[in-house]
Amino acid sequence: MLVSQGVDAALAGVLGLLIGSFLNVVIYRLPKMLEQQWAAECASLGGGEAPAAERFNLMVPRSRCQQCGHVIRWYENIPVLSYLALRGKCSACKAPISLRYPLVELATGALFAWSVWHMPGQIAGLAWCGFAAALLALALIDWDTTLLPDDVTMPLLWAGLLASLAGFTGVPLANAVWGAAAGYTSLWAVYWLFKLTTGKEGMGYGDFKLFAALGAWFGWQALIPIILMASVIGVIVGLVLKFNSGLREGGYVPFGPFLAGAGFTAMLLGPDAILRAIGL
Ligand SMILES: [Zn+2]
Repeated sequence: MLVSQGVDAALAGVLGLLIGSFLNVVIYRLPKMLEQQWAAECASLGGGEAPAAERFNLMVPRSRCQQCGHVIRWYENIPVLSYLALRGKCSACKAPISLRYPLVELATGALFAWSVWHMPGQIAGLAWCGFAAALLALALIDWDTTLLPDDVTMPLLWAGLLASLAGFTGVPLANAVWGAAAGYTSLWAVYWLFKLTTGKEGMGYGDFKLFAALGAWFGWQALIPIILMASVIGVIVGLVLKFNSGLREGGYVPFGPFLAGAGFTAMLLGPDAILRAIGL
């Protein structure tokens, strides 16, 4: 039993490395694809011709070095191993490759192995793999671009409701539905309160959808621990960035990465552990 559980977890880990490699593509390209789509829609609304753009999606064109345009060959694209073999440099121009690529691959591999190890022989383990992959992509896309694309948040929300229905999450369906509804509504209310009193936007609609998705996966009871943890860590990181003048223009720190961080904690330790850690 333990051996087959270990083999399954190891296989899931390898799958996670490959999916992590794909997530790197999603994190880099999805925001660009959305911008291209918005630009095309604006152009067509203005009655003008949409600029002829190169076909660009998650599959084409092949990945290139951002410095010199060198097309990445398949053997330069093996998760983690290629990074080590290339010593973190482009094989053509020796420009450094971001350490984030192998780290995303390793994190995805570890989360997949963890999920399958803890739910041996169950489809539920794979459902949590999907949850982890989507959450990791959202966290990094939001950090880079302050966007939380509907293409990821909405399927994540629906998947949480369906996973509850199928019994994968152990959350009764009613708690998942209330979690989604209360997650969305509560941040929506905070957003408008903040906007009406200060005239500023503290977060975006993507944050409401992500919080709703977490409510669907963990049930409404988990919303308070998740929002507490995300807010506390968000404020700390915001202050650290402020004093290191690492804040981007407008002083805006995206909230999604902290919601995602709390979501990962809830997944790995359970929502109750968050409350215990804060001393409640
Ligand atoms: Zn290069």
